[in-house]
Amino acid sequence: MKCRQCRRDIPQDDRYEHAGNLYCEDCYIQILSPTRFCDPWADYSAKSFEKHGMISPLTEPQKMLLKLIKELGKAEPAELIEHTRGGN
Ligand SMILES: [Zn+2]
Repeated sequence: MKCRQCRRDIPQDDRYEHAGNLYCEDCYIQILSPTRFCDPWADYSAKSFEKHGMISPLTEPQKMLLKLIKELGKAEPAELIEHTRGGN
């Protein structure tokens, strides 16, 4: 199965369906947010954590990140790094 947009081969569990077409993860994210890439980042990260089995057990930094993502609604990597540094 190939991504409709970039024509890359997509593994079975990495397929994303949008408007009846299949896309790879990267293209799917771009399609959902063509102009504002940063906003869905938080949601994407949370899903990515889950997908890679990092939800349980969570390390303290991971818990902190997920909490921040939920609270902020969106978060940029630099922002998260700032928060996890604990003000040092
Ligand atoms: Zn693609």
